Amino acid sequence: MKRAQRRIVSLATLGILVTGALVGLATAWPLYQAHRQGLETVTLMSASAQAESLDHLLARYRDVARQIASRSELRCRLETYLEDPAATGEEREALAAFMAPRLVDAMLPSPDLVGLERRDPAGRPLVTIGRVPDSRPPVDGAEAAGQTRLVPAEEGLLVEVTAPVLSREGRPLGSDRLYFGPRGIAEMLDDPERFGEGARQWLLAPSGPVLLAAGPGGALVPAEAEAEADGRRTERLGEALASGRAELTHATLDEEGDDAAVLVRVPLATPGWGLLVQIPARGFYGVVYHELLWAAMVVLVLMALGALATARVISPLLTRITDQAGRLRHSAHFDALTGLPNRAYLNRRLALALERAEEDDSALAVLFLDLDHFKDINDSLGHPLGDRLLQAVGRRLRRAVRDEDALGRLGGDEFVLVLEHLHEPADAGRVAQKLIDALLQPFIVDQHEIFIGASIGISVSPRDGRDAGELIQRADTAMYGAKALKRNTWMFYTPALAEASRERFTMDTGLRRALERQELVLHYQPQARVEGSRVFGAEALVRWTTPEGEVIGPGRFIALAEEAGLIHHIGRWVLGEACRQAREWELAGLPLRVAVNLSGLQVVQGDIVGDVRDALEQSGLSPARLELEITEGFVIGHADEGLERLNGLRRLGVELAVDDFGTGYSSLSYLKRLPVQCLKIDRSFISDVPGDPDDETIVAAILSIAERLGLDVIAEGVEDATQLDFLRSLGCPAYQGDYLSPPLTAAEFAKRWGTEGLAREA
Ligand code: C2E
Ligand code: MG
Ligand code: MG
Repeated sequence: MKRAQRRIVSLATLGILVTGALVGLATAWPLYQAHRQGLETVTLMSASAQAESLDHLLARYRDVARQIASRSELRCRLETYLEDPAATGEEREALAAFMAPRLVDAMLPSPDLVGLERRDPAGRPLVTIGRVPDSRPPVDGAEAAGQTRLVPAEEGLLVEVTAPVLSREGRPLGSDRLYFGPRGIAEMLDDPERFGEGARQWLLAPSGPVLLAAGPGGALVPAEAEAEADGRRTERLGEALASGRAELTHATLDEEGDDAAVLVRVPLATPGWGLLVQIPARGFYGVVYHELLWAAMVVLVLMALGALATARVISPLLTRITDQAGRLRHSAHFDALTGLPNRAYLNRRLALALERAEEDDSALAVLFLDLDHFKDINDSLGHPLGDRLLQAVGRRLRRAVRDEDALGRLGGDEFVLVLEHLHEPADAGRVAQKLIDALLQPFIVDQHEIFIGASIGISVSPRDGRDAGELIQRADTAMYGAKALKRNTWMFYTPALAEASRERFTMDTGLRRALERQELVLHYQPQARVEGSRVFGAEALVRWTTPEGEVIGPGRFIALAEEAGLIHHIGRWVLGEACRQAREWELAGLPLRVAVNLSGLQVVQGDIVGDVRDALEQSGLSPARLELEITEGFVIGHADEGLERLNGLRRLGVELAVDDFGTGYSSLSYLKRLPVQCLKIDRSFISDVPGDPDDETIVAAILSIAERLGLDVIAEGVEDATQLDFLRSLGCPAYQGDYLSPPLTAAEFAKRWGTEGLAREA
């Protein structure tokens, strides 16, 4: 159950985690795409702005060129010179001398402008100022109009802007070439902030691909040179700005393909010029990843919290649900007290086991176990303790058997064990002995040390039956057999036991009606003094005459009455009847002391003091004429609990005798504590005296103990004169037995020992 619960909780948690992850992914992907696109757009815009700035710079250069070319006084002088077909070399020099200082003046406001060359329409230089590259590429007519390009110079590259010099009417008067230094462009390209760390900007010039990098100190150097110094491949950098519009692509820059980069190409408005920006991909998309990482972490934390909360909520809920389910089901199948299978469940298991046994043709045994004297413990120590004892017994039995054996409790102190696949029926006997042995050690319950035995009956299938009910009932019958034999033992079912059981059943039902039908009767056995043989008392002994006329002695039904709980009724009736009879005899002039046998259960369970008082009051018999017999066996087992009641009886004024003395093991110190006045020597010691030296010794010892403790003694079962003579020789005070008279009906007794009878005997 616990394992299933744990699995449900982990599955639910896993489900939440997986769902969370999927939802997270579904949310994160478009988010990532949007972010990435946004970033690319922003970068393209930024690159476009940069390209515009660069273009702006080039446009300014062209403006400067136009302004210089259109200075009117220079234009006029040039026009005049050109119109004179016979102008001399001197006049050309004079023109140059006129123009040079004025051109220098015009150049001064533009600090980037480092050189200028004015040519005549034929392309021959007229004036050269500042740094002008030596090897100038040839310029054709079309290019001459506002061409902007890069030209190599000694110190690096220069921006060359070409501007036509035109007359007022638009006639070509020649052209200017202006050379701008790299500072302005380099400053713009060398801007680490603009595209992030590690980003590089390259300017692509016309008549391409000449790439410029912003070098240290603001110099513009060919990109190839710089890139090669880095060990990078350059061919990709040089890809032409073919599309003519801004674009963002991805490229790997090294052989291994590790160095991923984002390339942004933006064409400048100046024809042929372009801006190339190279940004390390890692740094570029890092921002996106970073943002996503935060989102992912938030999702993760939420998922974890969700999973945790679910587990928290689900666990107790599951526990409740499974507990409840475990309990509809447990209480229907299992005994609430011991947790073992109950009768219904056991029956079902047994039925299934029988089907299996039938299929594979194997033997099966049912062991019916009943605790010995459990009722006494329950009654004397209380039901709560009895319950705890049953739980402890259940645990011990469970431990004594194999896991696959079905052990259950039928109710009360009855347990049933089903053994499958027996090799031979005798195996069941061995298991039964194992169960009995398991109960040998005392149980400690509520600080009480409790010894409890068990009687076990065994039925074996198919020999003793083939259905569950029959097998359990026959095992039960065998259990009764075991109890009747000696308790704390086991017995196999036999048909003879069934007969005995049937008899017990009929007797049980019969006994329940015996009282109301007045089938019980008391017989009286006289007790006499050894010296003089005077009858002083009579022991009342109960008999049961069944409707069929059979007379059943107490040896056959008292134990059954005790088991069936009938002993209290019977005991009260015996007390009342004996007292009534004694009082009747007393009034008739036969003053005898009547002895009544008490069952131990009457002393410990019921209100014996009250019962005796009632019997005396109702009959009017004086207490001194009543003696109560308790067996030595009971005295040993229950003296502590019974002692107070015995004292109570004694306070009523009745006499107490220990019956069957010598058969138990009561110690002298025990005996001294008991409020008894008389010991009755068990007839088993009398039957072999004189002659048996052991019995002779025992009888002598009992007599001497009684004398020392000041107790009266009655010897039971005296059957002949030699026994009586022997008792007399030892000084035994009193006796009863067939020699004097067997038990007689009240009428017979009165006839023989009544006034008339005594007179007759005399
Ligand atoms: P017990 O109290 O020891 O009674 C004496 C038993 O010995 C009687 O058996 C009696 O008939 C028998 N007996 C007497 N003299 C002789 C003899 O010379 N030889 C032999 N062999 N036996 C003799 P009974 O009447 O069958 O009673 C058996 C036991 O049943 C009694 O033993 C007593 O313990 C119990 N009992 C009898 N009546 C009652 C009763 O009303 N209540 C209770 N609780 N127990 C009773
Ligand atoms: Mg007796
Ligand atoms: Mg006796």
